[in-house]
Amino acid sequence: MERAAAEPRRRIPAVDALLRSDPGRRASATFGRALVKRTLTKTLDEVRAAAARGVAPPPDDEILAAALARASSAAHGLGRVINATGVVLHTGLGRAPLPEAAAASAARIASGYSDLEIEPETGARGRRSARAEVLLTAVTGAEDALVVNNGAAAVLLALAALARGKHALVSRGELIEIGGEFRIPDIMAAAGVRLVEVGTTNRTRLSDFRAALSDKTALILKVHPSNYRVVGFTAEPPARDLAALAAKNGVPFMYDIGSGLLEHVAGIPADEPSAEGALADGADLVVFSGDKLLGGPQAGVILGRAALVDRLRRHPVARAVRVDKMQVSALEHVLAAHASDRRAEIPTWRMLREPAEHVRHRAELLARTLDGELAGARVVACDSAVGGGSLPGYVVPSSGVEVSSPEPAGMAARLRTGSPPVFCRITERGVLLDLRTVTEEELADLARAVQYAREWDDPDGE
Ligand SMILES: *Cc1c(COP(=O)(O)O)cnc(C)c1O
Repeated sequence: MERAAAEPRRRIPAVDALLRSDPGRRASATFGRALVKRTLTKTLDEVRAAAARGVAPPPDDEILAAALARASSAAHGLGRVINATGVVLHTGLGRAPLPEAAAASAARIASGYSDLEIEPETGARGRRSARAEVLLTAVTGAEDALVVNNGAAAVLLALAALARGKHALVSRGELIEIGGEFRIPDIMAAAGVRLVEVGTTNRTRLSDFRAALSDKTALILKVHPSNYRVVGFTAEPPARDLAALAAKNGVPFMYDIGSGLLEHVAGIPADEPSAEGALADGADLVVFSGDKLLGGPQAGVILGRAALVDRLRRHPVARAVRVDKMQVSALEHVLAAHASDRRAEIPTWRMLREPAEHVRHRAELLARTLDGELAGARVVACDSAVGGGSLPGYVVPSSGVEVSSPEPAGMAARLRTGSPPVFCRITERGVLLDLRTVTEEELADLARAVQYAREWDDPDGE
C-alpha cells in the first residue's frame, strides 16, 4: 500500500534542475530568480503532495509551465477583466468600478505630493478624510462623519471604542456572515465585546431587547442582513423602536446598513435601508461600505452623533484602520457626484438603472458580430443581480447573449483564462453573457474572446 504511493515520487524533478532549464533561465531573467524559484518550489510541493496521494506527477515541462505561469501572473499583477456575469457588485471582480474621473484623481494624487493632511491656508495639520466628511454630513444630515479602510473596520472600531469589556445586544436574526471572513460574533470577540444574542433566528421583539438590557450593556447593534432574506414567519423590531429604547436607557444604538445607500431615490426598493433614513429613525451611529451601493472605492463610513464619532476618531484602532490617500481622493469624487445629483457618472448606478432595452441593444450588437462567425449565439432575456451584499433577492431585468456549447463549463473556463479574461454565467446549453455589466467599448474584445473560446469546441470552424 505504501509502496504504491511512494512509487511516483521518484521522478519528481528538483527545483534547481528546472531553474537551470532554458525556460527557467529566461523566466529568471525577466521576473527575477527569487520569484521563479518560489513558484517552482510551491508547484513542486503540490506535485509531491499529490504524488503522496497516488497521483502520478505530470511531465517536467508541464510542471515548469504551471510554475512559470504563476510567476508571470504575480509579476504582471492584477489584470482588467470583462464582467459578463451581470452581477453589478461582484466581490470576486472588485465590487464597484470607479468613475473614470475618480480613478484618474486617485492616480494623480498617488503619483505626487498632495495636501493630504495639511490645511493650505494655515499650514496647520489637517485630517485626511476631512473633505469627505464634509460631503457626507452635507448629503445625509449627520452631525459628524468618519471614514476608515472598509466596512468591517468601521464596525470593529465602533465596537472597540464604545463597548470593549461590556455587552452589545444583537438580534439572533442578524448574526450575519458576509463573504466568509466577516462574522458578527467573530468581530465582537476581536473587539473584546461580549455578544448578547437577543430573540430567535426568525422572530425578535422589542421586549426581548428590553429584557436583555443590563448595567453592562454598552451598545445596541442592528445589522442589515444584506446578503440574505429571512422570509415567512418573521419579525424584527424597527430601527426607530430600537433607537427609542436605547435612548431611554442611555445606551448608543448603532445601525450597520451594509450597503451605503445615502438617501432614498427612485428605483431602489424601499426596504433597503438608507443612511439618511437610519439617522432620521434615531440611530446614534450608522456604518456602511464605500464600494457597494455608494459606488465608490473600498472604504468604511461612520456617521452619527458628534460626541460618539469623536470618540471613535480618537481611539487607537482608528489609526490602524485609516484610509489611504488614493481611497480618500476617489471617495471625494464619488461623494461630490452624489451631493450634486450626478449619480449617472457613477458606473454602479448607471448599470443598476440602465433600462433593459438599452442593454438589449448591446446584446444585439454582440450577437450580430458573433453571428458572422458562428451559429448558436442568440439574444435572450435574463436577470442581473446587484451582488456584493446589496439588495438580496432583488433582480434587474436584463438582456444577454447565450452562446451554445457542447461543454459549457469548459468554454467558461477558456473564457476566464483568455485575453482579456471574461467571466460569464453557465447555462444548460452553453454560456450566458449578461450585457448589463459590459460597456459598449468592451464589446469588440468580448466578441473576440468568445470567438477564440468557441474555436476549441469546433476546431474546423464547421
Ligand atoms: C458588506 C458588509 C460589511 C463589510 O463591509 P466591507 O466594506 O466589505 O468590509 C459589514 N456589514 C454589512 C451589513 C455588510 O453588508
